[in-house]
Amino acid sequence: MDTLYIVVPCYNEEAVLPETGRRLVEKLGRLTHDQMVSEKSRIVFVDDGSRDSTWKWIAQLHNEHACISGIRLSCNKGHQNALLAGLSTVKDEADMVITLDADLQDDIDAIDEFVKKYNEGCDIVYGVRSSRTTDTFFKRRTALLFYRLMQTLGVDIIYNHADYRLMSRRSIEALMQFKEVNLFLRGIVPLIGYRSAVVEYERHERFAGESKYPLRKMLAFALEGVTSFSVKPIRLIAAAGFLIFSVSILMLIYFLVLFLLGKTVAGWTSIVISIWAIGGLQILSVGIIGEYIGKIYLETKGRPKFFVEQYLK
Ligand code: UDP
Ligand code: MG
Repeated sequence: MDTLYIVVPCYNEEAVLPETGRRLVEKLGRLTHDQMVSEKSRIVFVDDGSRDSTWKWIAQLHNEHACISGIRLSCNKGHQNALLAGLSTVKDEADMVITLDADLQDDIDAIDEFVKKYNEGCDIVYGVRSSRTTDTFFKRRTALLFYRLMQTLGVDIIYNHADYRLMSRRSIEALMQFKEVNLFLRGIVPLIGYRSAVVEYERHERFAGESKYPLRKMLAFALEGVTSFSVKPIRLIAAAGFLIFSVSILMLIYFLVLFLLGKTVAGWTSIVISIWAIGGLQILSVGIIGEYIGKIYLETKGRPKFFVEQYLK
């Protein structure tokens, strides 16, 4: 039987942790009882530099339950890095790892299916939300827009899959070979290419606490996803520039002909509008290119993504 580790990133999750711990221990108990996973299986909470009593709760859960471990990061490094810290810390002990949010919005009963698929020979199992009726209208709309945009830009991203997934040890090892500083897991994991499967589940309401992804973080995350995986926006700028240049050549010819015919051009509206339009486009273009150059700058530094402060094994 193979060993399962459940990695749970937590940022200011004191309101949900005790319940999450209880439910996961129960779940793992059932899985080991049914001999689906080995007795060495564990639950690992990663404290992503929380400011509340999250770490105290993790330490307490660790004392109460033999199957719970805790990893504490030096400071808040963000959801993706917290996941990565968990994966890289446990990868030598686990045969498979499931990553799961602390708020249990993602149905933990899907874990049985995940493990089943793994036992059938899949290296990666994606959890996909079959309905998001509990998310706000705004969140659903923006998420849909984001997945559409990514697909249009040619990024292989799984629709309505967040970071609830199972990965085998060798797929985690493959993941560790991606050296990008800005790691967008949803885009990278499909690039690994080992056999994968999809498991659908219902998304629940957060049972306590509030979302740690305010609009600002969501937008930053989406921008990260787009610029990490696609250079199409830059090509679009080049195409727009070419188009505008062609139009200006045509205009030049047109006005030259008018001039030769002795007809003067009246009005300044057209001139002012073109100045503003082209000026705006130029600034936007420089901004987009700057975004990519900034990315190159950050990537060349190759800074470490996280530091583990403490590991309660
Ligand atoms: N999270 C984290 N670091 C952060 C922000 C969030 O580890 O800087 C964790 C958070 O504790 C939760 C998961 O990432 O377990 C997803 O966050 P949340 O549920 O707030 O996002 P939402 O479900 O609203 O998209
Ligand atoms: Mg959530």
